[in-house]
Amino acid sequence: MFFEIDERLLALSRQAEAEIRPVLERLDQTTEYNQQKMLRAFIDNRVSESHFAASTGYGYGDRGRDTLDAVLAQALGAQDALIRHNFVSGTHALTVALFGVLRPGQTMLCVTGAPYDTLQEVIGITGQGGGSLREWGVTYRQVELTAQGKPDLPAIREACRTADMVYIQRSRGYHLRPSLTVAEIGELASLVKEAHPGVIVAVDNCYGEFVEETEPCQAGADLIVGSLIKNPGGGIARTGGYIAGRHDLVEKCAYRLTTPGTGREIGATLNMNRELFMGLFHAPHVTGEALKTAVFAAALFEKLGYEVSPGVEEKRGDIIEIVRMGNERALVAFIQGMQKGAPVDSFVVPEPWDMPGYENQVIMAAGAFTLGASIELSADAPLREPYAAYMQGGVNYHSGKTGVLLGAQSMLEQNILVL
Ligand SMILES: *Cc1c(COP(=O)(O)O)cnc(C)c1O
Repeated sequence: MFFEIDERLLALSRQAEAEIRPVLERLDQTTEYNQQKMLRAFIDNRVSESHFAASTGYGYGDRGRDTLDAVLAQALGAQDALIRHNFVSGTHALTVALFGVLRPGQTMLCVTGAPYDTLQEVIGITGQGGGSLREWGVTYRQVELTAQGKPDLPAIREACRTADMVYIQRSRGYHLRPSLTVAEIGELASLVKEAHPGVIVAVDNCYGEFVEETEPCQAGADLIVGSLIKNPGGGIARTGGYIAGRHDLVEKCAYRLTTPGTGREIGATLNMNRELFMGLFHAPHVTGEALKTAVFAAALFEKLGYEVSPGVEEKRGDIIEIVRMGNERALVAFIQGMQKGAPVDSFVVPEPWDMPGYENQVIMAAGAFTLGASIELSADAPLREPYAAYMQGGVNYHSGKTGVLLGAQSMLEQNILVL
């Protein structure tokens, strides 16, 4: 129609789509559940147009800001929440949570192997100090995942006895391990709380929001953190993040975000409330669209003979889909093709570059309305074995699907695909 896509690819695409119909229907059921949950939260908290008004200066008494916190808390099944445009990234929100809750002399234990790349300098695993948790006197330890990429329960039971915080990363990040489901996070939370009552269970919830019908706080997590340019921003929020969970812990985080004493009482929202409300409202639906795009990509690339993860039928804990491209040429062709299907910057040709905070060179397809927004269709790939493309997002399935097809088309044009 509007794109030149090989007829054989289109035929495969139709076949793939027919096969995944039951999966897409199941995803729709989850989306409907989560969207109704969100609507309920808006109604219960009496969201009104007056909440969109901008505050300036100190931002005292900003009712929109306070109401948005309450809506998010309800939607995530948490006691309390802090959602702010002032969080400059997911890493910043996580940093505020870690520094807000941990104290010198305490120990943070990551039980899902090495944490997300950008967190490593925050903790002080890498880097020169520069204000890291380590410099601050917080000890860090981690429990490696098993060979299957699952949490090592016996080792965790032992290690958590001397930890003050157990840290869980729900999403796979740039790793090949599977994401954790909420049920698995729940098992971990019960296990560590039985072994060491009083330990704080914190979850990096990035990419996980609204993928399932429950969230980690409903399964025993004390604190969860995420980014608004991923799922909970609904593709509309231009910046921001959130922290949600136990009231006393969220308060501590508020004191770290602003100042001890003032906490959440201040912070001008300028003109951001309306878009944060709107993005949050759309988040369950948009997350559903991203999941459909991921399942379509899994089905198509499986048909093309590639190893994908998760598989079409596999239970998902995040919106990421991995396609193992096997070599640099295939990877680069795919990323460059996907870029051609972006609504913004479609004419740009992505090249590998040294992205700050990451160890290997990275190539990315990102043609988004919001710079770096990975709830919009995007794919990142570190240039290292097995040359896997980590793709995610797609604020609407039809456009997302087109982007995936253009990725495959680009591989076909470079004689990488055998059809
Ligand atoms: C995106 C992400 C973060 C935060 O990254 P930012 O780029 O700082 O927003 C942290 N952990 C995981 C697993 C993520 O996917």
